[in-house]
Amino acid sequence: MPVRFHRQKKEACFRGIAASPGVSFGPVFIFLQKELEVPIYQIDKTRHDEEIQRFQSALIKTREQIAQVRAKVANKLGENEAKIFDSHLLVLEDQALIQETIDYHNEHSCNIDYCFHIVAKRYISEFSHINDEYIRERVTDIRDVSRRLLHNLLGQDKIAIGYRLTTPSIILSEDLTPSDAASFSKDRVLGIVTDSGSRTSHSVIMARSLRVPAVVGLHDISWKVEDGDQLLIDGYEGLVFLNPSQKTLQQYGKLEDKHEHRKKVFLKACDVPTQTKDKKPIRLLANIEGLDDVDNVLECQAGGVGLLRTESLYLRGEGFPSEEQQFEIYRTIVSKLTPRPVTIRTLDLGGDKRLKNYAFVAEEENPFMGFRAIRFCLEHKELFKEQLRAILRSSAYGVVKILYPMISSEMEMIQANQVLEEARAELRLQGIRFDENIPIGCMIEIPGAVYIADRLAKHAQFFSVGTNDLIQYLLAVDRINDRIAHLYQPNHPAVLRALVQIVESAKKSKTPVSVCGEMAGDPLYAPFLVGLGIQELSINPVLLPEIKYLLASADLAQLKKLAKQANKMVDPNEILQLFRKFYADHMGTLSL
Ligand code: PEP
Ligand code: MG
Repeated sequence: MPVRFHRQKKEACFRGIAASPGVSFGPVFIFLQKELEVPIYQIDKTRHDEEIQRFQSALIKTREQIAQVRAKVANKLGENEAKIFDSHLLVLEDQALIQETIDYHNEHSCNIDYCFHIVAKRYISEFSHINDEYIRERVTDIRDVSRRLLHNLLGQDKIAIGYRLTTPSIILSEDLTPSDAASFSKDRVLGIVTDSGSRTSHSVIMARSLRVPAVVGLHDISWKVEDGDQLLIDGYEGLVFLNPSQKTLQQYGKLEDKHEHRKKVFLKACDVPTQTKDKKPIRLLANIEGLDDVDNVLECQAGGVGLLRTESLYLRGEGFPSEEQQFEIYRTIVSKLTPRPVTIRTLDLGGDKRLKNYAFVAEEENPFMGFRAIRFCLEHKELFKEQLRAILRSSAYGVVKILYPMISSEMEMIQANQVLEEARAELRLQGIRFDENIPIGCMIEIPGAVYIADRLAKHAQFFSVGTNDLIQYLLAVDRINDRIAHLYQPNHPAVLRALVQIVESAKKSKTPVSVCGEMAGDPLYAPFLVGLGIQELSINPVLLPEIKYLLASADLAQLKKLAKQANKMVDPNEILQLFRKFYADHMGTLSL
């Protein structure tokens, strides 16, 4: 465990991974969300009183800490902001919670930390299922307070301030799961800084979609920052300044001017058709997470939505959305964007998109290789069918396509299509309208799928390449592990060859292919993808204008030449240099 630094008044700079563009400055909000590992062991009956005394002491210590934080927040941000800690103190006064913990201890004779953990978890789980805003807020209080109490019981002194974001802040945490990211009120998140993570972790993808600057993979920054510190984050370069000096702030003011200028130039380029310099059409679509992103799609004039990730609907912690709730959201998105196509991807839970508090979603040793996406859906067919019905119904309001994630076998395509067929039959019987010819797509994001793309094409009308997962599985590099982030290389020749193979298979089977992984929105790689013959890229709307500008600066022949040169190379660094040179040559003074 790293040694905690003493308060650092002077400026310090840290380098991480540039995950979401933008510059932001503000107070830090330390968010400690990791589940604690609470040991379990037996306590001899003669030591019960001692153990209960330990619990009482931890309660007192926790109360004192919260009172201190309250005073600090009241002083810095005002009495109103500090009120949340009154609710935290109330949790610690809750006699039922305290007594149940002691009863559990007396009955089971196990360590008090474990007893408290179990009782608090039970409260959290029961309260989370009550459909009442006030009670749900209490869940957050209990969760935050119990974490702090457990830290004290377990003798871990890391300060755990988890309170709802009441003032615009930069969130700093060891790790940020997509459900954590979804739980923050968007207008108050100025930026995200994490110890772990990479450009393709899902919370980062969400940050980009929220247009919030993010720097991740900083290893141990959460141990060096304290409450009351200010952070300046540079999401372009992957830099974080702790308590920046006036000089740094001024320099960043100038840098922001340059970025503003770039933004204006790129946005202007959005008004013209999407094509190469020699007028060969390309389709640039948007990756979105939900309804809130629709305005961004319209603003960047994307040709539609190439990937609507539906997981965030499920990750808000309010239980699974009903068919009706889903339908309303899909219908609204589709109606607002019609006649542009909207590709709705079916549920891709699992990996780093884990549900909390659901009994049937067990912890896994290796979640990215586990019970994820289509595997989960095919075992929970009723849930899957509900989603398919909602998607089908939305197809009556515009152009909708369905996309299945994480396909690794032909059988999965067949089974998924069977459930789809059942959903269709039900809707027909009920006289509910939907598009009978709705196109079905298959994500190619598992190496096995690359090899059997010809077979998968028999059950799909289009392919969408998920490079985020494809790279992690091809190279066996966990996409969210900052320790090995340098090995996560889109420029690895194996990745390039896999892409070539997909394009060839797609050509043979006459299956249209697009790329919706982050490679498509990266100005270093987008020219290569188009050069390979991929005519459709689906990109985060924040990144789309620059890609459009860049592709419009080159003839198709130049893009093809780039792809050909890259495909001959075997050294990832040489490939990267080639892509960097192409970028610099074509962006000129606008290159970063
Ligand atoms: C991908 O894997 O590239 C992809 C687009 O899906 P996700 O990032 O949601 O796993
Ligand atoms: Mg994926």
